[in-house]
Amino acid sequence: MTEALAKWDEEADVVVIGYGFAGATSAITAHDAGANVLLLEKAPEVDKGGNSRVSANLVFWPNDIEKAKAYFLALAGPYTDNISAEMLQVWAQEMFANKTWLSDLGMTPAELPYIEFPELAGSDCVRVLMNGEGPLGGERLWRLIEQAVASRPIRTLYETPAISLVKVGDEIVGVVAERSGKRIRIKANRGVVLTCGGFENNPAMVRNYVSGLAEIYPHGTPYNTGDGVRMGLEVGAELWHMNNISGPLLSFKAPEIPVAQWLSLPHGKSYMFVGGDGARFTMEGDPCLTGDFHGKVKRHGMWMQQTMPVPIYMIFDEAYRKAGRIGHATADWDVSHGNRYDWSDDNLREVKKGWIQTATTLPALAALIDIDPDALEAAVTGFNILAKSGLDTDWARGADTLAALDAPPYYAMALTPAFVNTQGGPRRDENAQVIGADGNPIGRLYSAGELGSIYSFLYQGGGNIGECFAFGRIAGRNAAGGARSPLREAA
Ligand SMILES: Cc1cc2nc3c(=O)[nH]c(=O)nc-3n(C[C@H](O)[C@H](O)[C@H](O)COP(=O)(O)OP(=O)(O)OC[C@H]3O[C@@H](n4cnc5c(N)ncnc54)[C@H](O)[C@@H]3O)c2cc1C
Repeated sequence: MTEALAKWDEEADVVVIGYGFAGATSAITAHDAGANVLLLEKAPEVDKGGNSRVSANLVFWPNDIEKAKAYFLALAGPYTDNISAEMLQVWAQEMFANKTWLSDLGMTPAELPYIEFPELAGSDCVRVLMNGEGPLGGERLWRLIEQAVASRPIRTLYETPAISLVKVGDEIVGVVAERSGKRIRIKANRGVVLTCGGFENNPAMVRNYVSGLAEIYPHGTPYNTGDGVRMGLEVGAELWHMNNISGPLLSFKAPEIPVAQWLSLPHGKSYMFVGGDGARFTMEGDPCLTGDFHGKVKRHGMWMQQTMPVPIYMIFDEAYRKAGRIGHATADWDVSHGNRYDWSDDNLREVKKGWIQTATTLPALAALIDIDPDALEAAVTGFNILAKSGLDTDWARGADTLAALDAPPYYAMALTPAFVNTQGGPRRDENAQVIGADGNPIGRLYSAGELGSIYSFLYQGGGNIGECFAFGRIAGRNAAGGARSPLREAA
């Protein structure tokens, strides 16, 4: 008996690492396929659910498999490497199957019109589903899936992060986890599924893999720290899509609040974004609805990653200040955890807190935020000319969203790049098996969800959750079906 097989503290047929939508789906499916399932979750029970729970709970559902294949390929654009024909077929089929699977679990699908890239081939297949009519966000879908887990004998160990995978030969036979400060060894008789999310909260990993975003804050769970990337690398996995993120989305990060907050911009017109040089650098607007689409922008006739300067300031006048609340936490970690900040309707509370700075003249405002006064004044003058003409020849912001900043006092609010999730991680194939650097599957190791997501470039809203269900089912089915290893029988 090898050292790796020496002693086990726990045992299950299938061990699932991470309890978000992908982990829940893998666990449900493996259980329904006859496996005894153990779910490991790093967070305490009160914080379970990862990004899945605090997401807007929207599911991209393609209503036609062939059109879905065309749209997926178009989204990948030049980044189709490793997305095989088999993968494309399975991706489309399983995404299509999501509506029936969710309905069988009790979802009442309500459709939203949200085609993020209408000009791409196959885009008319896009439907985005919510669980019942109602406001965006909330936890309606999460609660349904959580209930589906709770109604099955699936054991969940909270505050038990997986630390490493136990590999014997070319197979994964178990997991080492930490529980109450001690290492425990968990035997996996049939397979292990990695569903422990991305590396949003690992700034060193973000800087290493994602270009040009030295400073960026997550909107979601603080527990996704790239553990699955590290564990995958340790057992020889190949990585893919590491440089693709769902962002950057321009947001606000208060020092007192652990996550970035969405902005809510449609109520007024006399505002602009500038970088540290005082110049505009993008079309202003609500993230994912105008100008930028989950962090991708169209420049020179092609889609590319949005770049962002740091610092960034939102500059506005008194008319905009009075027009409505600028900060608006619609769907993020804070909302679901009872800490939602109540932004004032007139933004004056935030002025008092120092989150928004104010001065009666533009040069005085520039001095407060350490921007060259001439540069800021020139940028505002230029913006005002465009706004009055109704034609934004610089960034093509809609005429009906423009107004000159001419009502003092003036205001400046520091913004930050933020993201909802990373897409990279260990590469998987159409069987949701993790692929090694040699191109072969690593025995009995599966993955699903945003860890090693299939999205390599453009991202259609709802796509990550759709993928969690699609590949969660494949991973759960295949892990449950994994033949017992002779090595494990010997253990
Ligand atoms: C604010 C917000 C809104 C969003 N809205 C949408 C939307 O409407 N539609 C959409 O498709 N996508 C949306 N997304 C993205 C989407 O929510 C995620 O990509 C998706 O939910 C990821 O699911 P997952 O199961 O892979 O990971 P998660 O749901 O993040 O779950 C991963 C879990 O693994 C746990 N974990 C981490 N490390 C370990 C470890 N070592 N051991 C054990 N457990 C570990 C974490 O604690 C976490 O609970 C949104 C994201 C955010 C933040």
